[in-house]
Amino acid sequence: MPLSPHAVKAEAGRLGFLAAGITDLKPTAHAAELDDWLARGYAGTMRYLHRQAKKRKDPARIDREAMRVVVVLDNYFSSDTPADLEPPRVAKYARGDDYHGVLLARLDRLAAFLRQNGARVARTYSDTGPVPERELAQRAGLGWIGKNSLLIRPESGSFCFIGTVFTDLALPIDPPFELDRCGTCTRCLDACPTDAFAAARVLDATRCIAYLTIEHRAPIPDALVPKLDGWAFGCDVCQDVCPWNIRFAKPTATAEYRPRERLRGAAPDFFDEMGEAEFAERFGDTPFARPGIGGMRRNLKAAFASRNRGE
Ligand code: SF4
Ligand code: SF4
Repeated sequence: MPLSPHAVKAEAGRLGFLAAGITDLKPTAHAAELDDWLARGYAGTMRYLHRQAKKRKDPARIDREAMRVVVVLDNYFSSDTPADLEPPRVAKYARGDDYHGVLLARLDRLAAFLRQNGARVARTYSDTGPVPERELAQRAGLGWIGKNSLLIRPESGSFCFIGTVFTDLALPIDPPFELDRCGTCTRCLDACPTDAFAAARVLDATRCIAYLTIEHRAPIPDALVPKLDGWAFGCDVCQDVCPWNIRFAKPTATAEYRPRERLRGAAPDFFDEMGEAEFAERFGDTPFARPGIGGMRRNLKAAFASRNRGE
C-alpha cells in the first residue's frame, strides 16, 4: 500500500517535530521579488544567495530526482529570563546546541522512514543548501510568511527551524496556507532597532543585527553600533513583539535546544582573554563558531557599547 501523508506526519510527530506538510517542486511565485532584493544589495556580502538564486526560484533544480518535499518545523523557543535581556544578548535559536546537527539527525530518521516505505530518493536539508524553506513551508500549508519575513504557524508562532526532505515518493500534497494573518499589525516593522525593513517582507540584511553579528566579516558600522541594544549574536526583536509568538509560543521539548547560558555574565573582553585553541574547544560546536573568535570579540564590544551609549 502506498505511504499516506498521514503516516509521514505521524512519524514526523513521533520524531519530535512540531508540524509537517508536503508540497511539490514547482517554481516559486516570488522570483521577481528575489531578483529585485538581490539587485538592491540587501543580501550584503552573502554572495552564496546570488549563486543559489536559480535553485531558490526553481526548487526542482535542487534535486532532479525528487518530486515532493516533506517540510517539518522544529520548535526552539525558550522564554527570556532577566539575564537574557542584558548584554551580551544571544538570540533564542543560538542558546542551545548548534541546530544543524540536531535537526539533521532527526531529519535523517524521517528520510530513513521514507526509504523503508519505498522511497529511492530521500535527501535532507537543514539550512544547508539552496532551499527556499519559508516558501516551501507556506506551500505545504504550515503557515504564512509574516511582515517580519519569517514563517508563522498560527498554532505556535515563528520560533522554529525549518527542515526538508526531498523525495521521489508521489505523496499527495497539502493545500498551501493562503491567508495573510498579519492583518493591519506592523509591530515587527516598528520595533526593529535598526530600521532594517525596507518594507513589509523586504529585509535589508545589511542593517539587520542578525546579519551584522553573524554573517558580516568587517567591523559593525559605527552608525549602527548604538542601535544594537545589547545584542551580541543575532536578534529576536521582530519575533518577540509578534502577537502570535506572545500568545502561542511554548518552550521547546528538544533538550539540545534548551539554553546553555554560555555567555552568562561575560564581560566585554571575554573573548579577548581567550586564544584560538581555547575558543575552538569551548565554542567550536556552537553557533558562535560561524563568526569565529574575531567576530565574537567584535560583537561583545559592540553589544556593551550599545547599552553604554544608550544610557
Ligand atoms: S532580527 Fe532584529 S535587526 Fe533584524 S530585522 Fe528583526 S528586529 Fe530588525
Ligand atoms: S508582528 Fe504583526 S506584522 Fe509582524 S509578523 Fe507578527 S503579526 Fe505580522
